[in-house]
Amino acid sequence: MEVQNILSDLIKIPSVNPPGGELEVAKYLKALFDAAGIQNEIIESSPGRGNFIAYLGEGERRLLYLSHTDVVPATEDWDFEPFSGEIKDGLVHGRGALDCKGLVAAEAYAMLYLARNSKLEGRLTFAATADEEVGGTYGVKYLIENFGEKILADFAINEGGGEPVRLNGELAYFIQIGEKGSAWARLLAKGRACHGSVPTLGDNAVAKMAKAVTHLAEYKGEIRLIPEMKALFGAIFGLKGQDLELTEGNIDPLIRRFEDRSFVEYLRATTRMTISPNIIQGGVKTNIVPDRCQAEIDIRVLPGQDEGYVIDKLSKIVGEDIEIDIPNYSAPSFSDSESPYYKLIENTLKEAVGDVACLPCISSGATDSRFLRRRNMPSYGLSLMAKDFDPSLIGTMHGKNERIDIESLRTNSKFLIELARSYLGGSR
Ligand SMILES: [Zn+2]
Repeated sequence: MEVQNILSDLIKIPSVNPPGGELEVAKYLKALFDAAGIQNEIIESSPGRGNFIAYLGEGERRLLYLSHTDVVPATEDWDFEPFSGEIKDGLVHGRGALDCKGLVAAEAYAMLYLARNSKLEGRLTFAATADEEVGGTYGVKYLIENFGEKILADFAINEGGGEPVRLNGELAYFIQIGEKGSAWARLLAKGRACHGSVPTLGDNAVAKMAKAVTHLAEYKGEIRLIPEMKALFGAIFGLKGQDLELTEGNIDPLIRRFEDRSFVEYLRATTRMTISPNIIQGGVKTNIVPDRCQAEIDIRVLPGQDEGYVIDKLSKIVGEDIEIDIPNYSAPSFSDSESPYYKLIENTLKEAVGDVACLPCISSGATDSRFLRRRNMPSYGLSLMAKDFDPSLIGTMHGKNERIDIESLRTNSKFLIELARSYLGGSR
């Protein structure tokens, strides 16, 4: 079975989270792996929330292929049916093609290929897990807490980087070595209800919150240059042969020099705390002045910006009248870019696509890698795309018309196969 057909089948299973329903994906993978004689199991963290794990080879060295099987909803107007999985014009179409069923398919294809063609001298574990898009509680977090020995390995390869970027005329690939943390905040404005015909008798909670949310949306975080980003900037500008002293003061003018808008915004987001007010709810009826309004805020933090820091910033912005709660905080996490695992990934990447620049990067978002890193397991993000990958496709991730080119799926499969062979050894 070709990798694009596996992906097409996976997309047809609408494992939208919430509610998830990843068990159906796990069952599909089980049938595929059973037929190939690969040892595997489904671990249900809660009814319908299936995690699929498979194992190849035996030995001291251990490598984990990690991916997730849930997808975000397809809410906008798509130009094609989001769960068709249609293969057309060299592309596989549908929700999850890039995030992250393309990686599930490439890792599954690599497992099937290695089972047929190699005898590994170490252990390769494949984990396609649930619930990444809503925090990992029923996926990697659950597995680590309850079945750690099944997935812990010397290092993991997961989603996160891998698309080629053209920097000053040269092709470069990003390998994700870390990610920002997240602090999801809930704000509550309280007021006093009254009849909407005499609004001045009440205290309008929606109006209060609207003001607070406007201020939050205008927030400009102070620049913080962490060593990982400093190294990345050094490498980026090094490509150009420039010798620059990077400081918090000159980084923004330098960032603005890049033409690629999404790259500019990525660099901005990884050099400061960001605040995005994304949900607001208040009011019950047109003729009642609302006494409550709630807002949910997505905040992404850098090292040193803990819950106390976030609450302090928020209260300065929204004022004392609004209650602040942070029900969900997750610290930034990092893996070593000097480790032999990183070097191996870099070398294997170059074997797969040719001699390109490889840059360790940090992600503005979060992946399940953070749970592994908390257990001191190095985890690297790389969904390797082909050299002529169309960068505009990145915007379809969590957006509309998500799709991936078959060439990238093949490139990634090849990379994954070689990575396992190089690290785990074994005959061909
Ligand atoms: Zn993902």
